[in-house]
Amino acid sequence: MKVLIVGSVALDTIKTPFGKVKDILGGSAVYSSTSASNFAPVNLVAVVGEDFPKKHIEFLMAKGINLKGMEIVKNGKTFRWEGEYGWDFADPKTLATHLNVFASFDPVIPAQYRDSEFLFLANIDPVIQTKVLSQVNKPKLILCDTMNYWISSKRAELIKLLKKVDIFLLNESEAKQLSGEAGVVKAVRAIFKMGAKRLIVKKGEHGAMLFSKAHVFCAPAYLLESVYDPTGAGDTFAGGFIGYLAKCGKVTEENLRRAIIYGNIMATFAVEDFSLRRLAKVTKKDIEKRFDEYKKLTCF
Ligand code: AMP
Repeated sequence: MKVLIVGSVALDTIKTPFGKVKDILGGSAVYSSTSASNFAPVNLVAVVGEDFPKKHIEFLMAKGINLKGMEIVKNGKTFRWEGEYGWDFADPKTLATHLNVFASFDPVIPAQYRDSEFLFLANIDPVIQTKVLSQVNKPKLILCDTMNYWISSKRAELIKLLKKVDIFLLNESEAKQLSGEAGVVKAVRAIFKMGAKRLIVKKGEHGAMLFSKAHVFCAPAYLLESVYDPTGAGDTFAGGFIGYLAKCGKVTEENLRRAIIYGNIMATFAVEDFSLRRLAKVTKKDIEKRFDEYKKLTCF
C-alpha cells in the first residue's frame, strides 16, 4: 500500500564534533521518504526553489519516490536549516531556519495521491500539515511529527491537529515542551488530555516508546558503533515505521510494535554519515541483518 508524505525538502548546513557541511540534502520529507521507500511506494508533497540541485531530484526519483506533488517555484529559494550538535548528540542547537518557499506554500494534492492509505505529516508548519490532511480520503493511518520550532511558534494549530491524527510523534524534550511537564509519563498523560489518540516518544540513542491508552511498548535503540551526524534520525525512524506498516497493510498492535523496531533500525543508517550518504545506499539485506542482530540483543 502507498505512503503519502508531506514535509520539508531542505538544504542543511550542519556542524557536529566530526565536521561541518554546507547546503547538503536534508529535510524531514527527504529522510522519511527515502527510508519508507525501502518498504512501500511513496508519494511526496513538498516545495523547493529553482536553486534545488537536479542531482537531488534524480536521487529521489531513482528511489522510486513519486514527485508529482513536489512543486518547483520559479526564482524561489529552497528551505534552509542550520544546526549544530555537541558531543552528546542530543537536541541540536538551531542556528537558522529560512523557510523561503515554504513560507507561502499552499499544497495541492494530486488526484492520484488522494487515496494513499498511509499518511505521514512529517515535520513542517502544522498549517501545511492540516491542509494536506483535509485533501485526502480517509487513510488507514495518519502519523504526524513536529519539532520545538513549531511547538513554540504554532502551538494552537498543532494542538488542533494532534486530535485529528492516529499517532502523534515527538521526542522526549518536545513532549516536555508541549505539555509543560518535567517527566515523560506526566507529559504523555497531558498530551492524551489534549486529545492525542496514540503517541510515540523518541528517545534518541535510547530508543522509542509507543503509548496508547491501554498499552505501552518500550524499544531500546540498536547498539551502533559510530555516529557522525544525528540529523534526520527522527524522520528516518518515522519513514521506516510507516513504510513497514504500509507493507503489512494492516494496523495491528503486533505490526505497530514491529514497525517501531524497523523505525529504530532505519534510523541507525541515517546517523552513520552526514546527510543521506549512508541511508541512500541501504539494501534490504542490510536492514534484515540489523533486524536479526536487534532480535538477539533484546531477546530474553
Ligand atoms: P530530525 O529527524 O528531527 O533530525 O530532522 C532533521 C531535519 O529537519 C533536517 O534535515 C532539517 O532540514 C529539518 N528541519 C529543521 N527545522 C525544520 C522546521 N522548522 N520545519 C521543517 N523541517 C525542519
